[in-house]
Amino acid sequence: MSLKKKILVTGGAGFIGSNLVDRLMERGNKVFVFDNLSSGKMEFIEHHLENPDFTLIKGDLLDHKAIERACKDIDLIFHVAANPDVKLGASDTKVHFDQNILATYNLLEAMRKTGARKIAFTSTSTVYGEASIMPTPENYGPLIPISLYGASKLACEALITSYSHTFDMQAWVFRFANIVGPRSTHGITVDFIKKLKENPLKLEILGDGKQEKSYLHVSECVNAILLAIEKSNEEVNIFNIGSEDTISATGIGKVVMEEMGLSDVEFIYTGGKRGWKGDVPRMRLDIEKLKSMGWKPAYTSEKSIRDTTRVLLTVN
Ligand code: NAD
Repeated sequence: MSLKKKILVTGGAGFIGSNLVDRLMERGNKVFVFDNLSSGKMEFIEHHLENPDFTLIKGDLLDHKAIERACKDIDLIFHVAANPDVKLGASDTKVHFDQNILATYNLLEAMRKTGARKIAFTSTSTVYGEASIMPTPENYGPLIPISLYGASKLACEALITSYSHTFDMQAWVFRFANIVGPRSTHGITVDFIKKLKENPLKLEILGDGKQEKSYLHVSECVNAILLAIEKSNEEVNIFNIGSEDTISATGIGKVVMEEMGLSDVEFIYTGGKRGWKGDVPRMRLDIEKLKSMGWKPAYTSEKSIRDTTRVLLTVN
């Protein structure tokens, strides 16, 4: 990416967004973060605040005037903001509609009105639903999400691809596996650490513990995103981003337990093959498309979980 591009990152104060912002700043871009700090944290971005190439815009994507102002003269938008809590859709049916679909619509409208033309979107493996092909390639179909979160992200993808065609925009859509690493604030590793701090003798694991999923370190995820944007130039460019293997929920429990120096932990399973309604028990993405462009994850799922646990234990 050439130096001094003007880049807007929605959700740039969150876990993945702030790791991406660090890399964009290192590369000499002018970075604008648009975030309502609902789950994002000042401490993730405050080291950039004095840098003249960095601007924080505290704003909400549901405020269409605010996002329209932020899109003016922007070369590339990373649309990372969302409500990423997959479980939540089973108890709150509106949150993903508002924070993901409506927020994305507002951003696309702001782009259309201001002439901003390039968008990179952080989508998810949950758009595939319970895929019958594993690892699942980008051209797998039909896409039948089973969570309201997955449905909302698929709706966002559809809005983005149709705006791209209709209004001469260009889009990159990244379907992530589970992403872990420094500044993780949610997900199974964070959850297990919290539970084991509260009670080091017992660990409740949702489902039967046999759920097998792919976990990728956020540093590798950011590398993949930037490489894909450099190397692809279609109107719509869709990429899976994940690791080459999986780890089970029980396996994660064991890693977290070891890293916390615990040995006598009783694992208690809530039962059933899913952790919750809408949980996909098996997930692994086919990453051949990105590999053919020169990207390859260096870490296994287990190593990413282990490193993340270590880092989270040092900061919390
Ligand atoms: P996160 O909650 O840390 O980051 C989301 C950010 O968006 C936060 O900084 C939050 O304050 C901001 N935000 C939310 N709603 C907003 C709004 N209405 N207006 C402005 N800002 C708003 O989550 P994350 O894990 O970093 O996820 C980032 C993206 O990656 C999300 O789109 C998520 O769906 C996607 N994703 C994450 C994972 C994962 O494993 N973490 C996996 C697949 C996809």
